[in-house]
Amino acid sequence: MAEIRIEHLHKAFGGFTAVRDSTFTVPDGDFFCLLGPSGCGKTTTLRMIAGLELPTSGRILLGGDDVSFRRASQRDIAFVFQLFGILRITHLLDRPVAGLSSGDRQRVALGRAIVREPLAFLLDEPLGALDAEFREVMCGELRALHDRLHATTVYVTHDQLEAMSMADTIALMNGGVIEQQGTPEDIYDRPASLFAADFIGSPPMSFVPFRGRVAPGDSSVRVGGVDIALPQLREGSIDTDLVLGVRPENIALAPDAPFRAEVIDAEYLGTTQIVTLATASGASVKARIAADIRVQPGEHTGLTLRPAKLSLFDQRSGRALRTALHDGAAHG
Ligand code: ATP
Repeated sequence: MAEIRIEHLHKAFGGFTAVRDSTFTVPDGDFFCLLGPSGCGKTTTLRMIAGLELPTSGRILLGGDDVSFRRASQRDIAFVFQLFGILRITHLLDRPVAGLSSGDRQRVALGRAIVREPLAFLLDEPLGALDAEFREVMCGELRALHDRLHATTVYVTHDQLEAMSMADTIALMNGGVIEQQGTPEDIYDRPASLFAADFIGSPPMSFVPFRGRVAPGDSSVRVGGVDIALPQLREGSIDTDLVLGVRPENIALAPDAPFRAEVIDAEYLGTTQIVTLATASGASVKARIAADIRVQPGEHTGLTLRPAKLSLFDQRSGRALRTALHDGAAHG
């Protein structure tokens, strides 16, 4: 197996740029997910790694070798498209491929790819055609297979749950650009941008816009006249439009808390419920709370936000401001 290094990769189709200045490293043995919405350039990136598409500029190094302009057949990479089931194939190994169902052919294709011991596996939305339940099973099986083989794997998906459950590393793409790269925990806990905070998480992070000015060393912000504690800031801003970001599980309802909100509705999920609230300034936030807490639409309540888990963004650039949350963690 081998490390894959991508340096300033760029791909234009005529006047349209599908991949812009992409730089990342897939460590040897890593399960690496390219994640992002439809059309963000995931497949184009994967096809360039495979050699099915040539870059407009930039370099691709496979185990240290520059393969940027080598044909697919000269790259020793296994490209696996859709697969429906991958592990239960022993009963098929002696059968001619022509007699197999299309699902079994997929299993055999991956089995052969594994036997060939390529330098890396590339998978493009392999579980795309499956229903949610079977997809969850397959995620578990793919991850277990990876833990056995330690094969360098680049996996393309638009499904954040697939990426979060399987990846060692995620590169989140948006409009041809890598928006953030890190472990699932990095991206979930320390989103580098409003886009990342919104794309990851179900429901996604809630945003409370406010006007303010912060300085390095501050450990609270004033939102609608209420001081809200957050991780100590490592950078400041001029008086500008800021956005406080909070994940649903980090909001609690506290009737007497000063940060006020009105209950809009509640979605019952069994052990928890997702309560949608409108803050005094009109921001919509979602709180994940225990299902047995009674809430009524129209009710006014206070909210407490878990200080250590809050993010702060600059609205115009969309970028997160650095805080103590990022100390010692990758950012960007
Ligand atoms: P999806 O999940 O929908 O496939 P993606 O993130 O994989 O999305 P790509 O398939 O890489 O996105 O496509 C990125 C952009 O490049 C899209 O706008 C697509 O229309 C465009 N594109 C891809 N291939 C070509 C091509 N051969 N010629 C022109 N445009 C292309």
